[in-house]
Amino acid sequence: MWYFVSPEIVFGEDAISHLDEICGKRALIVTDNNMVTMGCSEDVKKHLVNAGLECRLFQEVEPEPSLTIVKKGARVARSYRPDWIVGLGGGSVLDAAKAIWVLYERPDIRPEEINPFDSLQLRQKARLITIPTTSGTGSDSNWGLVLTDKTAKRKLGLGSREVHADIAIVDPKFASQMPPQLTADTGMDALTHAIEGYTSGWKNDFSDGLCLKAIQLVFHFLPRAYRNGDDSEAREKMHNAASIAGLGFGNSMASIAHSAGHSLGALFHISHGRAVGIFLPYTIEFAADVSASNYAEIAHLLEINTEENNPVVSLVEAIRNLAQEIDQPIKIKDLGISQSRFEKLLPKLVSYADMDTQTVTASRVPTTEEYERLFRYAYDGKSVDF
Ligand SMILES: [Zn+2]
Repeated sequence: MWYFVSPEIVFGEDAISHLDEICGKRALIVTDNNMVTMGCSEDVKKHLVNAGLECRLFQEVEPEPSLTIVKKGARVARSYRPDWIVGLGGGSVLDAAKAIWVLYERPDIRPEEINPFDSLQLRQKARLITIPTTSGTGSDSNWGLVLTDKTAKRKLGLGSREVHADIAIVDPKFASQMPPQLTADTGMDALTHAIEGYTSGWKNDFSDGLCLKAIQLVFHFLPRAYRNGDDSEAREKMHNAASIAGLGFGNSMASIAHSAGHSLGALFHISHGRAVGIFLPYTIEFAADVSASNYAEIAHLLEINTEENNPVVSLVEAIRNLAQEIDQPIKIKDLGISQSRFEKLLPKLVSYADMDTQTVTASRVPTTEEYERLFRYAYDGKSVDF
């Protein structure tokens, strides 16, 4: 038995005006200072007011949201008593909105206790709307969330099938202001979600088509969105791709590019998309034999020339070319991390990746020793041959 979970998704130009029609009394808009400065929160508020709702802002979400900030947001929610929580922002904000919502509904639990096995009985007090402003995370359309334990310097990968939005508003205008670097980082995250979702140990008939479509969209439109942020078609397609990939991998799972990326991101403060994007080619090489036919299907879909090389080699080459086209690093060394610092933290890098929830869903699960080698190969930019 398995499940397919999805919010109602409103997408395309002016999707935000759907908010004019929602029913409710009070909305707590969870966001960050950036969104307030850019006027996005005011825009959202305007539509909620049109629907007759009172609004309050909680704009304190930081990148890599901490346990402390989501507890603070939940306290605000408990005093304001909203019947809608509206997350407006990138992955960090949307993950924080999910956690704030859960803690508002369930003041008796700790954020670390959000897991797929215990029923949360949500939606007694409020429902959730997600409005993504980057095109990568997929948090708007799936039920995962990542919080950071700042004291232990650890990322906590959490999730529950109940923690998905009721409505996701995928309106490209909110992503149109992303600077090129953010477009590239988040775009690589979307690609990693889609490829890992299509090849993880939990892939299934319902998620496969979504993942493939998202891969195709990213390959076609990410370079265009990166080169020209005013390319409205590319922006819209990338915004859709990110949510489609979120839905795809959210209903299968990601894999070890995410485990390794979470670990690297937590220890060296590398953005999520940048970190997972670096590992994607190495982890494909690592799983080349067990997932050969799936990688070949992706290569075929992308019309990659596979006559000279085997399809996995050709696919990896195409991903590296894409990464270089959008000025992404292709090895850890490119991030300016010195060899000595890397070696010093390598045992931690390996142990965090080993314990990450995405490791168990890999089509080929690395041993601790293999993880160490994977990190070393990714540091030097060597093709994985073991
Ligand atoms: Zn990701």
